[in-house]
Amino acid sequence: MSKPVRIAFLGGLGEIGRNCMAIEQDKKILLIDCGLMFPKAEHGDDVDVIIPDFEWLIERKDRIVGCVVTHGHEDHVGALQYLLQDASFPLYGSALTLGLARNRIAEARLTDRTRFVEVSDNDRIKIGPFEVEFIPVTHSVPHAHAIALHTSQGVVVHSGDFKIDLTPVDHRRTDLARLGSLSCNEGIRLLMLDSTNAGERGHAPSESDVGSVLRSIFNEHRGRRIITASFASHIHRVQQIADAAIDSGRVVVPLGRSMINNIRLARELKALTIPEKCLVGAESLGKYDDEEICIISTGSQGEAMSALTMLAKGDSRYVKVGENDVVIFSSHAIPGNEQNVNKVIDALLRRGANVVHSGIADVHATGHAQAEDIKTYLNVTEPQWFVPIHGEYRHMVANAELAKIMGVSPRKVLLCEDGDVIEITDSGIDFAGRISAEFVVPQKSQSRSKKARHKGAKLAKRHKKH
Ligand SMILES: [Zn+2]
Ligand SMILES: [Zn+2]
Repeated sequence: MSKPVRIAFLGGLGEIGRNCMAIEQDKKILLIDCGLMFPKAEHGDDVDVIIPDFEWLIERKDRIVGCVVTHGHEDHVGALQYLLQDASFPLYGSALTLGLARNRIAEARLTDRTRFVEVSDNDRIKIGPFEVEFIPVTHSVPHAHAIALHTSQGVVVHSGDFKIDLTPVDHRRTDLARLGSLSCNEGIRLLMLDSTNAGERGHAPSESDVGSVLRSIFNEHRGRRIITASFASHIHRVQQIADAAIDSGRVVVPLGRSMINNIRLARELKALTIPEKCLVGAESLGKYDDEEICIISTGSQGEAMSALTMLAKGDSRYVKVGENDVVIFSSHAIPGNEQNVNKVIDALLRRGANVVHSGIADVHATGHAQAEDIKTYLNVTEPQWFVPIHGEYRHMVANAELAKIMGVSPRKVLLCEDGDVIEITDSGIDFAGRISAEFVVPQKSQSRSKKARHKGAKLAKRHKKH
């Protein structure tokens, strides 16, 4: 009899966001991701973020051997600053992933509660009882990984967020060859796979396609100032916007704190190439004519305090939006954000700007695999057991159907939800109990004393799952 392995799902199975799971073997716990979720209207105006309920983990904090971070998106790293208040453990991920995770942890003054352990593509390292392998995947942030855990119950693969893009901007493709080799040699006992776009037919378009569309828009609007908005962590998109800008004789002007910080970090790590002379601070905008400027701003989701929202309201010190501006939303509104994005678009239009968004041009490509991509992945990995993760319930059901189509035995496709615990033993995989899956709203202030923070954690408002 080999030792059993347990997996507890703390978040991300039933919603987009707060991805977090705990893998347990020999009484040691390894976390994969620790993310937050942005609230929807139904959660009320006073809620900034929602995190998993960490009580179960905190009771076992001495057994946590580390957290493996698949990539630097907030829904995968954004809750570390809350868990690290009560537990201390090292973080493992690519330099860029850890750089993005570090920002919030540093803001909360908790960097001394962890250790940042950088890994390279295809590294295989020992963490507690596990051999952990970092397999490159393409996603909407560079240097993302799938995780292969070599456990006493065989190989468990966590897909991370991924897409299959044969022409990614940095040429770093999802490493299907390594996944296939794992499948042929050791065999993959369990695959846990990103469900976000499982309900979308066909293949996800390549990120490079967006580049050509951006170039044609830049060409069409020579003579005007161009303002773009995208996720600050979408370094591939920033690269394509910057390339289009520089090729049409413009300087690149980052706007918004996270855009400025991420561009600096990504250039340091050579994940982004913008020549120094082409990068200009907003305070120097006055030295350039409109047709020489391309602003890259935060605020593509209509966030209230973001740089683009300030421009739309006329509250920016450096930029007054007017008739000679073209604003490109190189993004797609996350469900729940549509109203806010529409408000910003209305305000920009009222100021006379020309607005381009993904509804009228292909200025965005998803970072997640669609149905045919997922089938390819399943064909390569041929898992024995399958658990769809990362998505709302309908996304996970769609993903489960794809697994069955691709030959996974229906008995071996488990539809799990937040709070479920499963156990892998010699005889198979089965449900093995429940832990809390409540939506926790953390205290806003990070500047309180440690004692007050503990008290705050207990008093934290809890929202029942919807
Ligand atoms: Zn995600
Ligand atoms: Zn992601």
